[in-house]
Amino acid sequence: MIFYGTKSKHIKNDRISNVDCQNCNTTVSMNYSVYEKYAHIYWIPFFPVKKLTFAECNSCKKTFEQKDFSAPIKQKIHHSMGRISSPLWMYSGIFIIAGFFLFGMYSSVQKEKDTSTFIKDPKVGDVYFLNSTKGFYTSVKISEVSKDSLTIFLNDMEIDNKTNIDKIDIDTNYKNKSNVSKKEMQKLYDESKIFEIKRN
Ligand SMILES: [Zn+2]
Repeated sequence: MIFYGTKSKHIKNDRISNVDCQNCNTTVSMNYSVYEKYAHIYWIPFFPVKKLTFAECNSCKKTFEQKDFSAPIKQKIHHSMGRISSPLWMYSGIFIIAGFFLFGMYSSVQKEKDTSTFIKDPKVGDVYFLNSTKGFYTSVKISEVSKDSLTIFLNDMEIDNKTNIDKIDIDTNYKNKSNVSKKEMQKLYDESKIFEIKRN
């Protein structure tokens, strides 16, 4: 279950004067407080919901809620309060999500860039992740590099989950060797059969 809800944060205190209190029928000054309600998920603030204002008569000490303000009180508070922008931390959750999203985007662009660079200049130890039989993925590891060809270790295993392909990239899986020309490798890449190259 996701734990979520709203919390309030006190954001401003101030005073207005020369207003009529509906309770003690006197011209008084009042202190008002502004709270901002915000939505949180697991205590991480996500966005502000609304502002709540309370005013207290300095003579009879009665507290008024926003809905009970007389028009002049409402106007004076509005004037005195000015424009209060919500504190940025109230959007923390949104920033965090945006951050993860941007980081994910950045690293996938970076991976693609690396792969397109590495394919042109294979090095011993490079791991190529590729599409295997339909719906399965596997990898090969470069064992030797010569002028036109590569000696590669074939992975004994396949996996049906592309995102978990790292799990089969373990030394004990690379037992059998094979030879392949650099040209053929490049072709596999051009046909998008090789989708990532990892270099340590
Ligand atoms: Zn009063």
